[in-house]
Amino acid sequence: MIKAKAYAAQNPNETLAPWDFARRDVGNHDVQIEILYCGVCHSDLAQINNEWFPGVFPMVPGHEIVGRVTKVGDHVKKFKVGDLAGVGTLANSCGHCQHCEDGLEVYCENGVIPTYNAIDKYRDNLPTYGGYSNTIVSDESFAVSIPENLDLAATAPLLCAGITTYSPLKHWKVGKGHKLAVLGLGGLGHMAVKFAVALGAEVTILSTSPHKAADAEKLGAHHFVVTSDAEAVEKVKASFDFIVDTVSAEHDFDFYLSLLKLDGIHIVVGIPPEGILLKNVGMLQLGRKSIVGSASGGIAETQEMLDFCAEHQIVADIEMIEMKNIHSAFDRMAKGDVKYRFVIDMSTL
Ligand code: NAP
Ligand code: ZN
Repeated sequence: MIKAKAYAAQNPNETLAPWDFARRDVGNHDVQIEILYCGVCHSDLAQINNEWFPGVFPMVPGHEIVGRVTKVGDHVKKFKVGDLAGVGTLANSCGHCQHCEDGLEVYCENGVIPTYNAIDKYRDNLPTYGGYSNTIVSDESFAVSIPENLDLAATAPLLCAGITTYSPLKHWKVGKGHKLAVLGLGGLGHMAVKFAVALGAEVTILSTSPHKAADAEKLGAHHFVVTSDAEAVEKVKASFDFIVDTVSAEHDFDFYLSLLKLDGIHIVVGIPPEGILLKNVGMLQLGRKSIVGSASGGIAETQEMLDFCAEHQIVADIEMIEMKNIHSAFDRMAKGDVKYRFVIDMSTL
């Protein structure tokens, strides 16, 4: 076993604290990565608080992992020692169902194994531990190559916030001629803005935070609407082809559906623990609208997204933090006060 250090929650709702534990040895198809940076996703906060389901504890959160390869297994083809590599939200999948064969591991028919908060039933029945740690061992097929021409720390959030917003935009073929709204300007939201702009859409940010208006233009958005401003909202009624919904808390779907035009698509990527509630089914029927969902993305598409970012010089806007300040970062994140992704400098572990 490999000695590893991390910040972990020993029980639900507990403060993260230093924890020494063991990673599996590097197998024939594994790479070991020295973690240099790890992004802080709202899902980390949700899972240590058991907001979705009873979690696996001790829990080491973190699924926006970038670093250098320090060891490779005998049969590894994709990586050599010294390469930059990343690990996102996926640790493993069955590998043989149709979706895995199609490169859609995140939709594995037998159940995908997330990077943390899971038991890896396909390998050793041991818990998976995430990236708030100094090192990780990953099957090479679940690791991606990080382009050398991007700022490394700002690349970490691409591994979740990036792929989770890139994937639905590609799936629903968002591009020139489309009017798209990004609902919620946080980690996922600001990446959705950058990708949608790069793909040629006309992008509006729908936000509850007036003070974020100043950043809209910098992020490339064409319009910014505060959702409590009735007059501004009236002007965008029935105007969007797509809404990319990144909101992490309960919100009013009837209201947001009214902003879609005929055949408009409301893409839910946020995970409100309360679920979603549509009171007026007519909002869907009158206008032939759809509410759809999307999970992070497969490994091949994650690599495609990183290559797209390298070509278009896209990274996240980040605030770097020391590991010990993770709880003040969580507190700010819970209040929607992130510009626009916290990234942990893992040398401070
Ligand atoms: P985040 O950085 O905290 O951003 C969420 C944003 O939502 C906030 O900045 C805020 O933006 C807005 N918001 C918060 N509370 C709101 C409310 N009550 N009403 C309206 N808007 C509100 O979170 P994130 O890391 O981007 O994650 C967003 C959500 O996606 C989380 O639920 C997370 O668990 C989920 N997620 C899903 C996947 C997936 O695979 N589908 C992957 C990663 C994350 P404004 O200030 O602009 O209003
Ligand atoms: Zn995430």
